[in-house]
Amino acid sequence: MITKKTLKLSLKSLRDFAKKELPDQLLIDLDARDECPLKIIRTMCDPKGIGIQLLFIPEEYGGFGGGAFDVYCVCEEMARIDLGVATAVLATFLGSDPIFVGATPEQKELWLGRIAEEGLLFAYGATEPDAGSDLGALKSMAERVMDGDRIAGYKINGLKQWISNGGIADAYTILAATSAGPSWFVVERDTPGFKHDKPEDKHGIRLSNTAALALDNVYVDANRLVGGVEGQGLNQAQAVFGYTRLMVAAFGLGAGWAALDRAIPYSTKRIQAGAPLSEKQGYTHKLIVARLEAGRSSIEETAERIDAGEGSLNTEGAVAKYMSTEAGDKAADAAIQALGGYGYTHEYMVEKIKRDVRITTIYEGTSEIMEMTIARDRWQLHLKTRGFHYHNQAKKFEEMHLAHREAGADIAALALHALAEVMEKARAARLTRHQHILLRLGELIAYAECAGSLARRAALMAEGKLNEKASQRFDATALAALSRIFAREATLKVGEEGLRWVCASGGVSDSEMAAFEAALGLSAIHRAQAGLIADMDYIADVLFNRVAKRAAV
Ligand SMILES: Cc1cc2nc3c(=O)[nH]c(=O)nc-3n(C[C@H](O)[C@H](O)[C@H](O)COP(=O)(O)OP(=O)(O)OC[C@H]3O[C@@H](n4cnc5c(N)ncnc54)[C@H](O)[C@@H]3O)c2cc1C
Repeated sequence: MITKKTLKLSLKSLRDFAKKELPDQLLIDLDARDECPLKIIRTMCDPKGIGIQLLFIPEEYGGFGGGAFDVYCVCEEMARIDLGVATAVLATFLGSDPIFVGATPEQKELWLGRIAEEGLLFAYGATEPDAGSDLGALKSMAERVMDGDRIAGYKINGLKQWISNGGIADAYTILAATSAGPSWFVVERDTPGFKHDKPEDKHGIRLSNTAALALDNVYVDANRLVGGVEGQGLNQAQAVFGYTRLMVAAFGLGAGWAALDRAIPYSTKRIQAGAPLSEKQGYTHKLIVARLEAGRSSIEETAERIDAGEGSLNTEGAVAKYMSTEAGDKAADAAIQALGGYGYTHEYMVEKIKRDVRITTIYEGTSEIMEMTIARDRWQLHLKTRGFHYHNQAKKFEEMHLAHREAGADIAALALHALAEVMEKARAARLTRHQHILLRLGELIAYAECAGSLARRAALMAEGKLNEKASQRFDATALAALSRIFAREATLKVGEEGLRWVCASGGVSDSEMAAFEAALGLSAIHRAQAGLIADMDYIADVLFNRVAKRAAV
């Protein structure tokens, strides 16, 4: 268990270390040279240095036993420093995940213990040239090597693609097919027959090492099969998806905020048309903050639930990853725009952050795979409840609105009711036979659920009941305003885009149209947009520290 105080101290020492060892100019140079700062990464992972790994290792293996919430906080902080370095450091966490969930006690003792004591760097080897989103298509094979009746070990052959830390790790978890199905194996760096290729020349996260791996008759003892039972690999990977998706969600969030935190001060000094840009509504209101905070609320809620023992929460992890990484990418893009020509140059960093954050919508499951995961899972809930799942959710937010009239719960409820109607129409007209409609449903579900999540966080904050480790960037009034802003966007999106895609796939006839529009609540959705500009003005004042000044006028 990590206390709030320990977590705060760890985050501070990370920040101090980065300030000293990774100044902007060095990051720019390393990015230009496409160079991974291995010494710095080793110091960050070294138990005698910063020892970030210790936070994640269970106490019985020499770590501090941090949970999902701690992981999120550290990942956000790391991403604010540099997403390439964050990827390199957190790859050990990802690489050791199959061990964490599936290994025998002896294997955990050995590998988690070595990470804690020696700062071992791990890599996670799942992806292959022909198996990316579809890991079931993997071709790497692990063949049993027998000693009489006993399995002595395995001979592994295959190729791995795009492996973070591929060229620098000390140990690798490698997914390969046995006769009983895909299984994880631990392979050490210098094992004969095991090679890594040169680092990839990437669009972003150029401070992380990404390399292809080749395994040519690589022999490992039987005790390197994670868990000691063949065929558990995909289950073990699935078991941590909720957790690992939260890590990447936090990367998107941290990088998005890092970009905005450069644009915000810039705009207070940049004078155009006689006044700082920070005083121009057409400028400030394009800095996308509400979506980032909707992503954060979804991360925080999911992390709390994982830590409370609710399981791996893969779908919730997918919602958090989808929202936070897409929002982080848009925020970084908005930051380039906000700096104009300067933003388009290397020196001002936002261009680098934009290139870096782009990966978060690709690795650990692409945004399209997230949409599909979300849609398929919630589709089942829709069917099981005969179409009432989201209507029932909406009712809870209508009740919440009675106690918390500022939290945007009423607007979130409109989104959820409309979502239920869109899904029901899709069911009745069998619209999900079009894959595009299924994925668009995934997007609408993510928006509606995040609107609910942010409203819940705003209500909890108003009651002073938010987790003590939760972000305090915004106070209760500001969080409520953000919730209303995001809920309006989500509601409009679900209502109008839901209608659009139902019409586009022939799901509603001319004679049914008026009734469907009414069922969606389009008129109420449009009326709910009232007050949006006032809320956006308020958030701009918060971002630019003008609230007290405004109140005094
Ligand atoms: C810098 C970097 C670091 C990485 N680190 C690691 C690592 O450490 N370990 C590791 O194992 N992997 C790693 N990866 C791999 C990463 O997880 C994969 O790139 C990702 O899962 C996508 O797989 P793919 O590249 O094969 O794309 P594909 O699966 O071929 O997808 C290509 C496009 O098609 C879409 N698509 C795929 N399937 C469908 C479908 N059924 N329906 C509709 N659209 C679909 C995708 O959304 C995507 O837009 C890394 C990748 C990069 C670039």
